[in-house]
Amino acid sequence: MIKSKLPNTPTSIFAVMSQLASEQNAINLSQGFPGFNCDRELISLVDRNMAMGKNQYAPMPGIIELREIISQKTQELYGKYYNPDTEITITSGATQALYTAITSVINEGDEVIVFEPVYDSYIPAIKLNGGTPIYLQLKGDNYKIDWKEVEKSITPRTKMIVINSPHNPTGSLLSEADLKHLEKIVKGSNIIILSDEVYEHIVFDNETHESVVKYPALAERSFVVSSFGKTFHTTGWKMGYCIAPQELMTEFRKVHQFIVYAVNTPIQYALAEYLQHKDKYLQLGKFYQEKRDFFVNQIRDSRFKIIKSEGTYFQLLDYSDISDMNDVKFSRKLTIENKIASIPVSVFYHDAIDKKVLRFCFAKDNDVLEQAASKLRAL
Ligand code: PMP
Ligand code: GLN
Repeated sequence: MIKSKLPNTPTSIFAVMSQLASEQNAINLSQGFPGFNCDRELISLVDRNMAMGKNQYAPMPGIIELREIISQKTQELYGKYYNPDTEITITSGATQALYTAITSVINEGDEVIVFEPVYDSYIPAIKLNGGTPIYLQLKGDNYKIDWKEVEKSITPRTKMIVINSPHNPTGSLLSEADLKHLEKIVKGSNIIILSDEVYEHIVFDNETHESVVKYPALAERSFVVSSFGKTFHTTGWKMGYCIAPQELMTEFRKVHQFIVYAVNTPIQYALAEYLQHKDKYLQLGKFYQEKRDFFVNQIRDSRFKIIKSEGTYFQLLDYSDISDMNDVKFSRKLTIENKIASIPVSVFYHDAIDKKVLRFCFAKDNDVLEQAASKLRAL
């Protein structure tokens, strides 16, 4: 018999709910992905690069043209230079970057602080490497980090703190004050930060994305992960990247080369060209803010309580005035009976805390959002 390495890990909620939505012919606002196509121009660039014969292995860390433009973009937006030769690696989505970063530094017995509700891929990656997740909860209706609690939770075994802003599933943001707290806590320690910034360009209401890159005492100890899937409406391409100081990136690449070696060549060439157009990613916050507002305005008169989304393409809705059912059961019922699928937020807590909150993805065409809202209003 096989001894499971993840005995208590179920199938990812995203797979479960998307399958149920499809079986039930429900509007799928569960798994986060755009319901519309990416830019034709980007498709043409991939097509052209394939036709030009860019179809063999890319260099292990990614093509230099793409690493260079990422370096340039990072410097322009966040004010720090990363060396494309030694400090940037192109990955198969953020998922692989996160897994690789964790694998490259976490050893048996290391503690890793995470904040719940926590994105589902971090914990299995920590456990597969023998690490111990230390679960802290985001506090209050707007899901903020309690830095005093973080400070108290640090032990000599703390190896890593994982942060995620804009935050999935809550849509909350880390502020400048948050990052300054973190800076103070880790200063002088050997703690590594893993910063999941896949929604860096989806920030609303004139707020700015606070990348760890902007904070020298954080940048020097951080793996920063991003994803082209979110930024260019291409989640199915599984393209992302990791940036980190050379010492960390050297270890990252030792692992990366034996997980995938290198990732999709023609798409890397296409992205390197496409990233020259800054408006393609700098307009994204505005684009999704309109979607958020469109969706939220239509459900204002429903019995759901709206929890403000500050970024990402997710909206949390509290259904405690509608049902006493737990969120897993309620989201199944909504999918099967009302034909609208969402994600129950309790699955992002190790002890399944049920706050009667569901996550809805609003990265959809307005007619789909309209139909979804009308179903929600009817509850
Ligand atoms: N981190 C977060 C917070 C995410 O929401 C996602 C995907 N939605 C990922 C990582 C994984 O990104 P990718 O699809 O590029 O692997
Ligand atoms: N990150 C996406 C979400 O939160 C899903 C990614 C996945 O399916 N693994 O819905």
